[in-house]
Amino acid sequence: MTPDPIPASDNSTDQPQTAIDYHGNGEAEDVLRWALDRFSPRIALSTSFKDAVIIHMMSRIRPDFRVFALDTGRLNEETYELADEISRRYHVQIEWTFPRHEAVERLTGTKGMHSFRESVENRRECCYIRKVEPLSRALSGLDAWITGLRRDQGSTRSEIQKIERDQVHGGIIKVNPLADWDTGRMWQYIRENKIPYNRLFDKGYTSIGCAPCTRPVQPGDDPRSGRWWWELDEHKECGIHIRDWTI
Ligand code: SF4
Repeated sequence: MTPDPIPASDNSTDQPQTAIDYHGNGEAEDVLRWALDRFSPRIALSTSFKDAVIIHMMSRIRPDFRVFALDTGRLNEETYELADEISRRYHVQIEWTFPRHEAVERLTGTKGMHSFRESVENRRECCYIRKVEPLSRALSGLDAWITGLRRDQGSTRSEIQKIERDQVHGGIIKVNPLADWDTGRMWQYIRENKIPYNRLFDKGYTSIGCAPCTRPVQPGDDPRSGRWWWELDEHKECGIHIRDWTI
């Protein structure tokens, strides 16, 4: 049976340079192939390295695929080790983007190193400086970006489409090839293809971000409950995947 075509979430805007013209069957690798053929070299995967499944697929589609990552300055050592391992294995140079040092110096100088624990506003301020603003710079030269977002990652991601228009970032195309995957399918693919993964997953982590804002969870818990565990669920996005962002 042929799966349904991928829905185009918004194909009637005034950004003709990034028209959505995909009509394939929706399998992750097919979505990626279309996106890479359509937009390379102005397309890249935004990785936090827990989505190495996509890097594996991209490496099989074309050798000049691009991957960028945001170094918040607060990542776990395991994440940096994995980044190097992935870079070696897939012969890809990770394009790292860093926060503006003036903004970090101002934040830590006035509020200390852990202001994000004091309020949602402070946490969003830190995420804005270390993630949201750097992401905007990383995307500024792209027509499309790829993410590892999945609908099963919690209530804030349950509505994502495989291909969307990203109005927050100038109407470029956002590709979420694993949108309909669940955790079990992802781990099966990782094991079958011997894909490197973050060792923190072996220690009970189910979602990995910055070290001071991530902790292991209990079996059966919401996979993102280990992120910013002191906040309510509806606040649990760092800002790089939501439409309205204020600090
Ligand atoms: S996840 Fe935590 S440390 Fe990382 S940018 Fe957000 S608030 Fe700051």
